Amino acid sequence: MKPAANFSDFQLSPPLSDVLKKIGYKTPTPVQAQAIPLILEGKDVLATAQTGTGKTAAFVLPLLSKILAGENKRILIVAPTRELAEQIGRVLEELTSLTPSVKACVIIGGLAYQNQIRALRENPAFVIGTPGRLLDQIEMGHLKLQEFTTLVMDEADRMLDMGFEPQMKAIVAHLPSGRQSLLFSATFPSAIQRLAHSFLSQPVRVEIGATTKPVEAIVQDVIYTTGPEKDKTLIKQIDRLAGSIIVFTRTKFRTEHVAKLLSEAGHEVVRLHGDRTQNQRSKAIAALRDESARILVATDIAARGIDIPHIQHVINYDLPIEEEDYIHRIGRTARAGGKGHSLSLVIPEEVKHWARIYKMIHGHYPEEVLKMQKAKNSPTRTGQSQKEKPSAKGAKREHGKKGKHAKGPATQKWLKTDSSNAKSARKNKGGSAGNANEERPLDKPQNRAERRKSQFKKNSAPRRGR
Ligand code: AMP
Repeated sequence: MKPAANFSDFQLSPPLSDVLKKIGYKTPTPVQAQAIPLILEGKDVLATAQTGTGKTAAFVLPLLSKILAGENKRILIVAPTRELAEQIGRVLEELTSLTPSVKACVIIGGLAYQNQIRALRENPAFVIGTPGRLLDQIEMGHLKLQEFTTLVMDEADRMLDMGFEPQMKAIVAHLPSGRQSLLFSATFPSAIQRLAHSFLSQPVRVEIGATTKPVEAIVQDVIYTTGPEKDKTLIKQIDRLAGSIIVFTRTKFRTEHVAKLLSEAGHEVVRLHGDRTQNQRSKAIAALRDESARILVATDIAARGIDIPHIQHVINYDLPIEEEDYIHRIGRTARAGGKGHSLSLVIPEEVKHWARIYKMIHGHYPEEVLKMQKAKNSPTRTGQSQKEKPSAKGAKREHGKKGKHAKGPATQKWLKTDSSNAKSARKNKGGSAGNANEERPLDKPQNRAERRKSQFKKNSAPRRGR
């Protein structure tokens, strides 16, 4: 199929051309070019696309067009996090701004049931929600799915990681069997293939770019530092950077710690993690969006679904536990064709994990890590290291997506800090086993991500392989 070069190539309902002009979408993005005609034809679609590629509009536009043409009745969109559900709600609000008769409502945890029940009573054409609260509303009889002709599962891989498979299955069981189903996923592991097989009917596969690669326009830096130096390094880097920043940490506890650190250093900071109320979470994102706060400190709960074009930098204060989350985190910059920058602070305990993340993206291990490893294993380590002076207190830097590696191997200083860092990492982690994923399923407390997290905690060193 020849991809469409213009929105006018699709048979979209006429009011949508005006709305596209209004919001400034001139040409379809690749995922839109491929998915829109298939969805208009009524096909089931299994799509993988890089983050920030316009995939929300890729399903919202054709589904909305079918609603306007009277071909679709009602649409259920399931998303893993409240932030993503709200983000989809915002896209829908924009795209229905000229057709106010088409209603949408967002059904997520952390907010009062009553307002949602009222909204559901109006039978909105689009219902967008997170699995737990959707299922609650279904089971209480406020959301009846017999009339829903389309199901969209967005970020399906994330839903599986969060242990939502039972809820997803339960929701699907309430939907009519002749529905159209669309599954969007940033990655395509075998669990997703299995899910697609059970939820979709003869799906057409849409694949845009490599699913393990972040968008090209992101310059990815790394600084090798140490546990005790990490806070100082972060502050120094933040002082140096202009523009809006998201700082990712591994736990709620560490999010609080970093937010306090930056706030005491005089920065406008907001924070986001699973222990914050929905109101606080929405306010934090609103502050970042309207630039009343320059920095958001967050757990991986913010790794997907936040679409704020002016975010210029993503800093990984801690590396993500799941390698793929690195892609999602840094995908918060360089939205819709813009440029972005990411910076990862890597301490000795994380070097192997960093090497795996790097390999996932570049296809090979970072040179400087191999050199560090070699230096560590070498019997003449001491003599060799003495010749190599650490730069910037043991910090090494690598620039750019093209892999201009940091020059010089590991220093003795760097290697010697291993045990003290392990101690300080353990100290930092004390009592901080919080789960970033707020929409925790009730019947599966130990999901994959949690298991990995506790494994991570237990071993202190990152896990090996996937
Ligand atoms: P998404 O991948 O859905 O999160 O979208 C990423 C960003 O791309 C959002 O800011 C959208 O508003 C924007 N966007 C989506 N489609 C287009 C388009 N065809 N032209 C310009 N911007 C777009």
